[in-house]
Amino acid sequence: MRFSSFYIPTLKETPADAEVVSHQLLVRAGMIRRLASGLYTYLPLGVRLLDKIAKVVREEMNAAGFNEILMPMVQPGDLWRESGRWEKYGKELLRFRDRNERDYCLGPTHEEVVTDLARDEIRSYRQLPLRVYQIQTKFRDEIRPRFGLMRGREFVMKDAYSFDASIPDAEKSYQVMYEAYKRVFGRLGLKFRPVEADTGSIGGSFSHEFMVLADTGEDTIAVCADCGYAANLERAEIAAPKASEPSQCPPVARVATPGAHTVEQVTAMLGKSPKELVKTMLFVADGKPVAALVRGDREVNEIKLGKFLNADKIELAGREIVERCTGAPVGFAGPVGLDIPIYADNELACASGYVTGANEGDAHLVNVDLKRDCEIAAWGDLRQISETDRCPRCGGAIGLTRGIEVGHVFMLGTKYSEAMGATFLDEQGEEKPMIQGCYGIGVSRIGAAAIEQNHDRAGIVFPPQISPFSCILLNLDPGKPEVAEAAERIYKDLLDSGEEVLLDDRSERPGVKFNDADLLGFPMQLVLGGKGLARGVVETKDRRTGEKGELPLANFMPAFTEWKQKVLAGWERQQA
Ligand code: ATP
Ligand code: MG
Repeated sequence: MRFSSFYIPTLKETPADAEVVSHQLLVRAGMIRRLASGLYTYLPLGVRLLDKIAKVVREEMNAAGFNEILMPMVQPGDLWRESGRWEKYGKELLRFRDRNERDYCLGPTHEEVVTDLARDEIRSYRQLPLRVYQIQTKFRDEIRPRFGLMRGREFVMKDAYSFDASIPDAEKSYQVMYEAYKRVFGRLGLKFRPVEADTGSIGGSFSHEFMVLADTGEDTIAVCADCGYAANLERAEIAAPKASEPSQCPPVARVATPGAHTVEQVTAMLGKSPKELVKTMLFVADGKPVAALVRGDREVNEIKLGKFLNADKIELAGREIVERCTGAPVGFAGPVGLDIPIYADNELACASGYVTGANEGDAHLVNVDLKRDCEIAAWGDLRQISETDRCPRCGGAIGLTRGIEVGHVFMLGTKYSEAMGATFLDEQGEEKPMIQGCYGIGVSRIGAAAIEQNHDRAGIVFPPQISPFSCILLNLDPGKPEVAEAAERIYKDLLDSGEEVLLDDRSERPGVKFNDADLLGFPMQLVLGGKGLARGVVETKDRRTGEKGELPLANFMPAFTEWKQKVLAGWERQQA
């Protein structure tokens, strides 16, 4: 490809709306342009990047025995009614009607469509397993589209689905995919980690997320340095502490706390530590108000709470509901005398004599013994893990790091096959629901994640595995025929040997070309100018290390191949 005829509109300025570095660099390197919130056009270099990622994904899916299909992006609402998700999925599902007033939606994921396919196609256990995948554009009307390709509304996903006759077979499919994912992310040159995950709106029995480690990640991961336990914060378990026999505490007393409605204000006013306070948080679970109690220095984990209550939908209660249920302004809720179901975090059983809200403005209670003074509907693991907690598996220290979710594998079980009647006849001729798994990879998000992990002040530092081109060849003196001729010769040699090279043949100043080459970040840079030509050499630069060198123009290809091996070996060492 020639720069002069390949559209790469690089920018000097960082776009004002781009908060994270991958978004900034994708725009500055001329790979994407914003159409509207969460919607992007991929420019030629962006398309090459996507293709590179998709190629690796496709090869590994095929190698794992999954067959590529392509399902419609527009999906009938009736299928979603069958699975029960038409009501449950919420506003991320973009719904519309056709000319016959029939409901449709844009596919955010394809469990319904693929289960419909399986129930029509599969009759007998002999046809199982069915393992399929597609690489396709998805649409989710995200509440906060942001960070460019990281959280778009329209994005490219690889979604795969497995149908098996038994749970052990389904677990095999899951394992095959889990291993394939490790190969995919390894081959893409990403530093990643599989973690235990929540199953979210897809549902199902267990799942793992594949996280690219990066400070800008939206997810937090809890990791044990000792045993390697790793889980998304949404799910990370906390082992129940031994409940100590609470010491006798004096009777509950009411104290005035004028204007103090935060943990900090109350503890400061009463001379207590946050550990001695119980935070009473009100939620609405499937339309019903409930209270969750955690220690003052802890946070309620909404996802755990929702799971614990078996609720489809859970959200923090608004001011009006809090005031109606507690009879007090926000900030003074407490469990004593509260007339809604109360759920307490396990840790609170370790002590008594807590400070709580009094369900009355400007007042709190002291000496509260939760077991003695309130009616707790149930105790459970309801809070967010923190670095002061111990590993739930081995008791080791827990660290928190941030990650970008680039892949997700789910064991679905029979959630969809039962709801939609996707059954088969087993060896005994008995009708059984198929056991399903589903597996996603954020193809476009990987483009962003790779840049988050690989950049410097000058621009992108593409890992060779996904770089849109392997090499850029700068002709510094395109006006001089002898330089142009030499550059064309090397360009042709490189192309002939299968190298993906971009020839910068623009009539721009050398400084512009150097800056663009660094910004675009292809692993290898070759520089040819009048002075070099006179000496019979091409200059080289390894984009990752910045290391410069020279290759002879005479007998160029063998020297280039040797240098390339050195550059790639450097990358391999770094990625190992
Ligand atoms: P998240 O928690 O980030 O919203 P999710 O759990 O909704 O992700 P899945 O339904 O598992 O995501 O989708 C499979 C993969 O698609 C994810 O692992 C992620 O890489 C990618 N993905 C999901 N939502 C988006 C988005 N809005 N933009 C880009 N990629 C996305
Ligand atoms: Mg999501």
